[in-house]
Amino acid sequence: MSLEGGVTRALLEDPNATVHLRDVEGGEIVGNLWSTRENVTDCLGIARDELLGHMLTAMNEPVDTVDVDEPGFAHTVTENVDLTRLPIPKFYPEDGGRYITAGIVISEFRGRRNVSFHRMMVMDSRRLAVRLVPRHTFTLFREAQEAGEDLRVAICIGVCPSVLLAAATSVDYGQDELEIASALREACGQGPLEVGITATGLRVPADADYVLEGRITAETAAEGPFVDITGTYDHVRDQPVIVVDRMYNSEEPVFHAVLPGGLEHYLLMGLPKEPVMFRTVRQAVPRTHAVRLTEGGCCWLHGVVSITKNKEGDSKNAIMAAFTGHPSLKHVVVVDKDIDIFDDREVEWAIATRFQADRDLVVVPGAAGSSLDPSADTVTTKVGLDATKPSGGGLFDRARP
Ligand code: MN
Repeated sequence: MSLEGGVTRALLEDPNATVHLRDVEGGEIVGNLWSTRENVTDCLGIARDELLGHMLTAMNEPVDTVDVDEPGFAHTVTENVDLTRLPIPKFYPEDGGRYITAGIVISEFRGRRNVSFHRMMVMDSRRLAVRLVPRHTFTLFREAQEAGEDLRVAICIGVCPSVLLAAATSVDYGQDELEIASALREACGQGPLEVGITATGLRVPADADYVLEGRITAETAAEGPFVDITGTYDHVRDQPVIVVDRMYNSEEPVFHAVLPGGLEHYLLMGLPKEPVMFRTVRQAVPRTHAVRLTEGGCCWLHGVVSITKNKEGDSKNAIMAAFTGHPSLKHVVVVDKDIDIFDDREVEWAIATRFQADRDLVVVPGAAGSSLDPSADTVTTKVGLDATKPSGGGLFDRARP
């Protein structure tokens, strides 16, 4: 199968179904691995509704990782790296090139470690253009540059969902995402995260299929265009270049490919935001039951919050808190506990039967929103829908047999 177009078509055939492609150029590819909540929670051995609580625990109480002597990724090691021979797809026709999309970048400088997702475009046999938003990896890179050094990185592909979710959290600078992954595994009864140590001394998940070890350098290159979470093209930017010096792979490596703008992309970005949103809403409304970023809104721009009001107006406070907890949130619906927020039709039913725009709509123009929303200018308009019933309103309940 061709790496240009064929992989995307195979992943789009049934977005919910995991696809293992054994006949692509350069190796094997797996995609749609974590494209449903159940796939994630089944792998972690927990119920769907338990994930949010376990992620909160993991963010609050990190757990040390455990060093192992013979990590799976170290089965084969080579300094004769040729990225063009790896099964890295080009997803869409206008993309700037072939892209690593499930690569988590582990970086370390002067004892401070960061772990995060970055998309990386293959330039040639050893170089990748990496999109660095100005967050933690970028900060470490700048510190290294100011000291006259490159930033050491290990790009890990094919890691367990606890590492993927931890890498997508937005915790404070200096908080170690690998220890959050380890804590999430512990909370799910899977034991701490095992790590192996690379030639340059970086600790990386032992179960990774591929580890590309290298440096973020002072060189820059045009990165993009590339399809982002909304399924629309992001533009070209001048971005740093990673030089890969060494490659490790497991005995039978399978290259994980996350389809840009697909369900798996949605969930890996959205799931780690839900616990933070939940915590913030609960500070405003003590009886907050659940929050969900919906797939229809790319698990990024649209959310639903389930509460029980203690007093009138709690639902408006829940709207404001949801926007605080997830600043990229654009539209949010607040519903009562009797609505199943994992069922989009129930949420729409609540809007249909419990919402009146003249009293239940909150509009916040001129707010900072998501740069990923093509309809937003430098600012966005946020909208909250209070679809809760008035306290004591019996006529608002659905008839039960
Ligand atoms: Mn970080």
